[in-house]
Order: sequence, then structure tokens, then C-alpha cells
Amino acid sequence: MNFAPEFISLLRETSKLVALTGAGVSQESGLRTFRDAQTGLWAQYKPAELASTEAFRRDPKLVWDWYAWRREAVKGVRPNPGHYALAQLAKHVPEFRLITQNVDGLHHMAGNQRLIELHGNIQRVRCADCYTFTETWGDDTESVPQCSVCGGLLRPDVVWFGESLPRDQLEAAVEAARTCGVFFSIGTSGVVQPAASLALAAHNHGAVIVEINAEPTPLTPKADFVFQGKSGEILPELVKVVWVE
Ligand SMILES: [Zn+2]
Repeated sequence: MNFAPEFISLLRETSKLVALTGAGVSQESGLRTFRDAQTGLWAQYKPAELASTEAFRRDPKLVWDWYAWRREAVKGVRPNPGHYALAQLAKHVPEFRLITQNVDGLHHMAGNQRLIELHGNIQRVRCADCYTFTETWGDDTESVPQCSVCGGLLRPDVVWFGESLPRDQLEAAVEAARTCGVFFSIGTSGVVQPAASLALAAHNHGAVIVEINAEPTPLTPKADFVFQGKSGEILPELVKVVWVE
């Protein structure tokens, strides 16, 4: 792949870079999207019927089991070269912030520190009542495991339909977008909020917008540099050319 010389020098000189990743990055690891993943026993349910506080209130065990199944699905999946390239990029850019909409924890697995997780992480479990995090729990239980502090039900630390995003993560994401020199939008359709508005915030504050995605998105016309294809192929090449060679 050929990268324009001005693009390469721009990246080399930037001190503050933000990357936002979406479902496309996980899909390249073989993880099916939330909406495609309903197979077997779960095919009869719509994700929206399971990923909500209402569903959890109605049938906590059903929702718990669904997440146990999803955690199990993630176990068979590894980070792809795009995840690793971002972890490597973090070592070269003075200030790098990685924002993700993905809940699978693959960026962590690839070694990315200081991640902003807009939608939480299915690998983390917390109390539905008092918010205490739990490191160990049983998935094979008759009923939903309980919080050791207050006895409340445990739930995945993810953002459900109808819930607001974790405020500290959202504020950190907005701040990063507004103050960066270069903003990468990677594997995200550009229609899901707040992802779309983060790229626009960066654009409106003068950042150079770089889009890497399989197909054009609503962001494409506003992007300064557009790369259509797999992030797992484009990012490793880019990191090599810009920072390693
Ligand atoms: Zn509790």
C-alpha cells in the first residue's frame, strides 16, 4: 500500500492522536457482530430484548446466561494485526488515546493501555445495585451470582439499550477528540452515536480526519484521508512505514 509522503510526515509530527474503533475491527478477528451473533438457542431473541435493564429485571438468569455465552464466544477469538498495530502505535505517538465502541476486550488482550470504553466490557462484571466490581464469579450457577457486598445481582459492565454511556468515559472521549491533531475512525459505520459526533467534534476543532473502513460511511466526505479495506492489513503497514522504518 502506498501512503502519500505528506500523510507520513503529518503522522510523524503529530503529538496527539486519537483512534476510535468499532465493530469492524472485532469482525476481522472473526467475532460476529452483536446483531449477527444470535445463533442456536439464542436465535429466537433479539439483542434488544436481552440487553436492557427491563429484560434483566424480567428474567435476570436469561440475560446472565446470554452474556456467559457471549463471553465464551470471545474466548475463541484473538486480537488481529490491527489491534496489535494500535498497541504499537501507542508506543510511538507522545499522546495517544484509544476509544472503542467494542465490548469484547480484544484491545486489552493486544496490550493497549488507557483505553476509553464507551460501551463497557463484557469481561467485567459488577453489581447491578451497588456497582461493586467482581473478579470471579460462576457462570454455571442455577441462579444469577450475587454481589458479596450487598447481595444484589451481578451483571456485565456493559451499556444496555436505554442506559446512558459511562459519563467519565464519554467526557474523556469528547475531550480527546476536541484536542487531538489527528483522529482515526476505524471499522465504524459512522452512524452510531456518539461515535459519529466524536469524529465531527475532532473535525470541527481542526483535527485531520483519517478513515479506515471496509466501505464508505457518512464520515467519508469529511475525512482528509480515506483508506478502504481491512484495518488488520492497513494499520500494520501504516505503523511500519510511518514509525518503524
Ligand atoms: Zn452490591
